[in-house]
Amino acid sequence: MKKILIIEDENNISSFIKMELEFEGYKAFVEADGKDGLIKALEEDFDLILLDLMLPGLNGLEVCRRLKREKNTPIIMLSARDSVMDKVTGLQIGADDYIAKPFAIEELLARIQVVFRRDNNTKNSHVIEVKDLMIDLDARTVKKGDEELNFTNKEYEVLVYLIKNKNKVISRDNLIENIWGYDYEAETNVVDVYIRYLRNKLNSENKEEYIQTVRSVGYVIRS
Ligand code: CA
Repeated sequence: MKKILIIEDENNISSFIKMELEFEGYKAFVEADGKDGLIKALEEDFDLILLDLMLPGLNGLEVCRRLKREKNTPIIMLSARDSVMDKVTGLQIGADDYIAKPFAIEELLARIQVVFRRDNNTKNSHVIEVKDLMIDLDARTVKKGDEELNFTNKEYEVLVYLIKNKNKVISRDNLIENIWGYDYEAETNVVDVYIRYLRNKLNSENKEEYIQTVRSVGYVIRS
């Protein structure tokens, strides 16, 4: 059963959504404060988060930003403010969709289904696309447009790891742990060296086009 967390301070709205979601067969949970909602979303794994924009404790954009740094849980932002600015900001910081209040519950349910369908497709698909790159996980090939790029095993693993965690900043330690293993005792600059190899082979004018450096933290591939 899919678990959905509703972070919304207006009790009448959250209890109405919760009731409708449960009627549709989802398991629904409510938090009324931004900070509590973020903590719950980090501690437990939800399939989706419905996130209000104006919240006590921590506003919705900040909850979204902080959550997306740690996890890829899909987020649909809810907001009474139907301004383009909020929408753009919400989507830029990683929200998957945005719906303006007041909305018809049928519309919300339809958007939820779209997010789940999309999520399912990415999980089942063995081909991942980022910008003009196409990675076939079964064939272990990477294409940039029509051109096939050749990577060593480690380069390929670093690239795929970053892509699988796209939009999430990955620290050097995290990469070392997951690509080289816990026992690896080299200096952490091995990561920087591999990122340099990768960038050279990805060969674009802007060296940060695919892999961005987040200073003093690590690296990220954004889609
Ligand atoms: Ca609110």
